[in-house]
Amino acid sequence: MNKKLHIRLAAIIIGIATVIILISTVSVILSTHYHFVMYQNQLGEMLHSYPSLSRHFEMALVQSVLWSALGSIVLAMIMGYYAARRISSPLVEMKKVAEQMAAGRLNVTVNVSGNDELAMLGQSLNELAKQLDRQEKLRVTMTEDIAHELRTPLTTLKSHMRAFEDGIWEPTPERIHSCYEEIERLTLLVGELEELNAMESPGFRLVKQEVRLGAIAAKGVELVAASFMEKKITLHNHIPQGISLQADPDRLIQVLVNLLTNALKYTPEQGEVHIEARNEEDTVLLTIKDTGVGIAPEDLPHIFNRFYRGEKSRNRKTGGSGLGLAIVDKLVKAHGGKIWAESGQGAIFCVELPK
Ligand code: ADP
Repeated sequence: MNKKLHIRLAAIIIGIATVIILISTVSVILSTHYHFVMYQNQLGEMLHSYPSLSRHFEMALVQSVLWSALGSIVLAMIMGYYAARRISSPLVEMKKVAEQMAAGRLNVTVNVSGNDELAMLGQSLNELAKQLDRQEKLRVTMTEDIAHELRTPLTTLKSHMRAFEDGIWEPTPERIHSCYEEIERLTLLVGELEELNAMESPGFRLVKQEVRLGAIAAKGVELVAASFMEKKITLHNHIPQGISLQADPDRLIQVLVNLLTNALKYTPEQGEVHIEARNEEDTVLLTIKDTGVGIAPEDLPHIFNRFYRGEKSRNRKTGGSGLGLAIVDKLVKAHGGKIWAESGQGAIFCVELPK
């Protein structure tokens, strides 16, 4: 492949140069000869005394043209070969790198020099290798995380079932219920994983329309109201009328419900949760504040990472799958917005969405 490419390029360059040189040589020789014949005919008798002079002159001209043509062809060959090598060698290097990438070695890079199209192609290839490397690392950690998440409930279930089977443990309704809860947790985890996966697929699209934030908040609040009442937590919805934005209503409700469910989870009984919103210049700022346990400063930078559970929620009873905020983060970013958390009296989640 290496040889073939630069030899083909050299052949093309040399061929074109040779044809041009040959055409110009032949035309110079023919027109010189034609004019000499004309000159001889016009001068007639007079020239008989100097026949060899004109012949020598013509020969000298023709020979010099032929020599320079030959020299030009040799020069074209050397330069053509050199140019072909220059063009083909980065391509050949990129081909080798692409082959190594295909074989799974993703830490390879192309040496990029200059800023022409070939250098840009090399840069794109380097970027591709980096992206693939990142994806591969993500895939590995994701698989490890999922395996880790599945192992604990499965081990618990397995030991409980074995104990029931061996008759060591009475299958009382409470014990069966605790097994049921483990299965519920697994079902939730699988559902959230599917959701996260769908959001990362290239076909994921938001169905945006003009929505009123007040109406969205009312729907979200309605969905969680019963659980809030059950835990005796007061939910205050302060969203004013007249705030509207371009968004996917179902996804926006999902963001709100996930944040409210977290607020509920991490706020003790008799606590309060406040939903606020205000119009900014080009954005809408939605805030959800609770009077719960708050978020430790060392957890703040990580809580939007998948499977991350804060220090205060390591206990599996409180903590869910650790995927809720990762899903919220993806949805907000899909809207072109930003989400961040602050810790005050409790936790404060701020969502900034473009109008
Ligand atoms: P989980 O399923 O554990 O709630 P999330 O992705 O929803 O997972 O949240 C990640 C972590 O962020 C939680 O484990 C918790 O430590 C922290 N967190 C989220 N919301 C709150 C909140 N309202 N108050 C305190 N901590 C919170």
